[in-house]
Parts: sequence; structure tokens; C-alpha cells
Amino acid sequence: MRSKIVAGNWKMNKNLAETEALLVELAAKLPDTEAEVMVAPTFVNLAAAVRNLETSRIEVIAQNMHFAESGAYTGEISADMLLNIGVDTCIIGHSERRAYFGETDEILAKKVKTALQKGIRVMFCFGEELQDRKSGNHFKVVESQLKNALFSLEKSDWSKIILAYEPVWAIGTGETASPEQAQEMHAFIRKVIAEAFDSSVANNVSILYGGSVKPGNAEEIFSKPDVDGGLIGGASLVSDDFVDIIKAI
Ligand code: PEP
Repeated sequence: MRSKIVAGNWKMNKNLAETEALLVELAAKLPDTEAEVMVAPTFVNLAAAVRNLETSRIEVIAQNMHFAESGAYTGEISADMLLNIGVDTCIIGHSERRAYFGETDEILAKKVKTALQKGIRVMFCFGEELQDRKSGNHFKVVESQLKNALFSLEKSDWSKIILAYEPVWAIGTGETASPEQAQEMHAFIRKVIAEAFDSSVANNVSILYGGSVKPGNAEEIFSKPDVDGGLIGGASLVSDDFVDIIKAI
């Protein structure tokens, strides 16, 4: 059975005091839910966040990691460093990493491989750009992103994979994919995975939707059968909004 998940990607926001304050608020307001709840603070605040949430069921996850084990990679963070501070889930392939930091499918495939070898659960992000959707290429683009980064995995690796479909045109723009567009793509993703692996892999992987999810639209998006939750950017920075989105699942 796949899990329901709501994850907040805080990106390059919140200093240490603000991070701790938001975590205290979230832990206090966390609704009773079976869904997994995750937050991804910036690297410098990860260890403090783990300590703050020691007694909470909110999981602290990382926004990125490097594929190399260790060494001369100035400014980078390794899988072992994450594990060492108690972080064992990592976002990989966010569209901002692809767009601003040149992360190609090839680099992302290496990151996924290293993460899995180390026992880190991967939240793999992917999604088409506006021109892909306008030209009707969105299914093809999504399929190739999945194929290039994930289709050389073993079936057993998939228990450590969470997918986050995030159409780039909907991220931080206020424009959301309609619940029908999200459902259509999520069902397509499951079909492609079933063809490449099998239906049990496809049916057991959680597929989150990300892109301008807000308290006002979360319930309708989450009600779709192939949408297992959301990766939330902007709205996860405000405790009441994030809590309302968690309630919507
Ligand atoms: C994201 O960056 O993963 C995201 C979904 O952002 P937003 O919710 O702000 O669109």
C-alpha cells in the first residue's frame, strides 16, 4: 500500500530562529493524520530541525545531495553527512536544481543511485515546462525524465522512491494544474512504470503533485485517485496554510 505524504519544501527561506519557530508551530498544530508529513529546511538548519522535531512525527528531509561519496566538491553535501545528522529522505531533481544549477537527467540518475546505495529515500521531482505542455509534448517529456533517471533501478529499489510530479509552469506561479490535469498525468506515470517494471511497483509508489498547492485547492487535487499527496513550496512557509493542506489529505 502506498503512503499519503505532504511535504514542505522551504527552499532558501527561514533563518535558524525562524526555522525553529515554524517547527514549534507546526508540531503544536499538527492534525491527527495517517499521512506522512515532511519538511525540508535549508542545509544549515537541518541538524537543528532534527533536534527540534525529536518528539514529533514530522520528518525532516533534505532538499538536495551530491552523488559523490566525499571529496573535493566545495559547497556540496554528501549522503553520509545527511544520514549522520538523522536525515534519511532527500529531494532530488527539483526543477529549480535543473534550471539554475544545471542538473541534467544524467547527474540526477547518479544522485538517485548514490542515495539508494546509502539507504536514503528519494523524493524524485520531475515535470514538463510550459512550452512542452503547449506543444502537446508533456507526456513524452515526463516519460523521458523518468526513464533517464529511474528506469535502470531494480524493482526492489522502488520501495525507497517517492515521485513528485511538478509541472514547471505551476511552481511558484500561482497557476495550478487542474485536478483533472494532475490525475491524467499521475495515471500516465503509473502506466509507464507498470510497463517498465510491473503493476505492483506502479501501484505501490506514492506520486505527489506539486505546483501552487494552497489550502483552497488542496482537497480537490488530493481527492484524485492517483494523487497521493503534495510537495508544497510557498504555502508550507506559513504554519496555518501548511496545516490546512495537511488536513486536506
Ligand atoms: C515546489 O517548489 O516544489 C513547489 C511546489 O512550489 P509552490 O508550491 O510554491 O508552487
